[in-house]
Amino acid sequence: MGRLTSAVALVTALVAATTSAADAGNWATPAAGPSTSGGPEVLFTFDDGPNPATTPKILDALAAHHVQAVFFMVGWRFQRGNVDKTRDLMHRILDAGHVVANHTVSHAHLCTGKPEPAAAEIDDARAILEREAGMPVTWFRAPYGAWCPRLAGMVEERHLTHVYWDIDPQEWRTGNAKLTEQLVERHLRRLTGRAVLLMHDTKVATTKALPKILDWIETENARRAKAGAPTIRIVGAPEWAAEMLGADTIAEARSLGTDILGGLAQGLASALP
Ligand SMILES: [Zn+2]
Repeated sequence: MGRLTSAVALVTALVAATTSAADAGNWATPAAGPSTSGGPEVLFTFDDGPNPATTPKILDALAAHHVQAVFFMVGWRFQRGNVDKTRDLMHRILDAGHVVANHTVSHAHLCTGKPEPAAAEIDDARAILEREAGMPVTWFRAPYGAWCPRLAGMVEERHLTHVYWDIDPQEWRTGNAKLTEQLVERHLRRLTGRAVLLMHDTKVATTKALPKILDWIETENARRAKAGAPTIRIVGAPEWAAEMLGADTIAEARSLGTDILGGLAQGLASALP
């Protein structure tokens, strides 16, 4: 890519990254609520997988930094392609304490067309993911972040929790790892509250950018600690899930003998007071 082309790409991506929150429709932002530490906090989320070609590299990078993330999966990956490998990935994701979430069956736009197929996209994906994960999957993210009253109603009727995002480096579009790293670091450097970072475990650029971003956070935090400045806290997905469910819900489920948290139990046990 030429110098001018990459500058144009940078500006375009910056504009997209900074305007995406304003285009949120009525999905709540900040997407994971306020900071609990009072300082900058980030929750890592990955959409559109799992993909046997790229997701293992994402899991390696997260494991190397002891980070647990939320994976918004699409149901079709358990129906087509190398389903056995995709299933292995699901187990690896659960074993590592990551959180599994619903991103429809076929990555459909849920605010266009008839309501029945839109509802089926949500319900069928939930059924597939719950079967594969062996646990309830109540977190949901609309493809493209689409919002409309109809979809908001569907989410509410099903008692799902929609999770939007605050930082969107658009790496699925640019395919540029360096640019992705720069955009994310630029946001994190000036972050004050809590932000949800949206990336895609299906893209090669993401597999290259993620280890760099995680290394950068470590270096940046060492620098901040030395300077007595608030460090960037990575919010673990189980901690976030426990916060969202609330202590009452968890206690009630336990009293009923319902393992609502399934494979998350270990991570949650350490996150709960
Ligand atoms: Zn998506």
